[in-house]
Amino acid sequence: MIDKVTKRFSDGTEALSEVSLTIHDGEFFILVGPSGCGKSTLLNMIVGLEDITQGEIRVDGRVINALDPKDRNMAMVFQSYALYPHMTVRENMAFPLKLAKRPKEEIEQKVKQAAAMLELTKLLGRKPASLSGGQRQRVAMGRAIVRQPQAFLMDEPLSNLDAKLRVQMRTELARLQKRLDTTTIYVTHDQSEAMTLGDRVALLHQGKVQQVGTPRELYMVPRNVFVASFMGSPAMNFLPGRVEEDRLTLPMAEFKLPPNLQERLASFQGAIIVGIRPEHFQEVDPTKEEQAMLPAFKATVDVIEWMGAEVYAHFNLPGESSGRLQSLTKNLAIEIFKDNALQLIVRLDGASRAKEGKELEMQLDLGKLHLFNIQSGENLI
Ligand code: ATP
Repeated sequence: MIDKVTKRFSDGTEALSEVSLTIHDGEFFILVGPSGCGKSTLLNMIVGLEDITQGEIRVDGRVINALDPKDRNMAMVFQSYALYPHMTVRENMAFPLKLAKRPKEEIEQKVKQAAAMLELTKLLGRKPASLSGGQRQRVAMGRAIVRQPQAFLMDEPLSNLDAKLRVQMRTELARLQKRLDTTTIYVTHDQSEAMTLGDRVALLHQGKVQQVGTPRELYMVPRNVFVASFMGSPAMNFLPGRVEEDRLTLPMAEFKLPPNLQERLASFQGAIIVGIRPEHFQEVDPTKEEQAMLPAFKATVDVIEWMGAEVYAHFNLPGESSGRLQSLTKNLAIEIFKDNALQLIVRLDGASRAKEGKELEMQLDLGKLHLFNIQSGENLI
């Protein structure tokens, strides 16, 4: 339990402001956010490597603010692995148990068990220098596991691995965590790691929690423009919109709002920010007469990125984002309208007929729109 925790460094930097989070037993909990948002500082305070300026951290109802790191029964796994180069894999993994003066037989037994779990048995006699990045990472994990701690704390543990191995280790880590059923707090700046690994996710920005929930909740019902822009790749499109009675005007066309949105926006007229996920567009197939009854519009394809199973089509829409929208971005300290240009990215099927420089007719699923307050950036729905 993290209760109104604030961190102010001696130079006056406020890295965290009144952060409150409840982390459940056995949960895979992710702290995610852009560089400098305060996620590592929070992790370091939980494990005891950093003092807490204000607030409390409690474990099972007991305040642990002043407890020495070694008395917290938590094991930290760092990005750098922090393995001892002169020790073998076996010695590296046994080290925390040796420090704790556990009996020799117990140490042997636990190292053996952890090595089997991590497929390191054959490598126990090797030194870290002769291991691959992924193997070193597993040794670092093994060293944490042998202690059977109450919680694992991990700070970007996969970021030194190449892209393919990272994805593979991600799956292994998720499986391992479920098997060990040990509370895990995991720091990353990568939204795809947060989405795939987390039972729940806390998204931080400028030292404040923006939203806490399951990855699905953050993706489907983002509380504000920041959460919406951070979760998802390619990112959500943002467009300036205007609501007038039952009409919504977007840069590419004017649409009639579906009844459910009309109701919700009854008291909200005027300028808004409209968020549309790239997957909520659909290409109109001129060879098919029966199309879903969704509103359509045309735009000229600027760039195509072919990904195999799918295609990302980029469009430059006519018009410019207004000064008022710029002021919103300042308010949230994020840039959602870059260079005043209105760009759109759309995810289409790999078999799409979209061609660079050619017009494409698309349909828009208005039921899936996200509508945000232009001043506060809060989700209106
Ligand atoms: P990254 O992903 O880049 O590691 P982060 O989200 O983990 O970023 P932190 O390392 O927690 O961010 O840093 C949060 C803020 O606190 C940053 O603005 C950082 O510059 C500042 N900060 C961190 N350590 C100190 C320190 N010892 N003294 C002063 N400011 C610090």
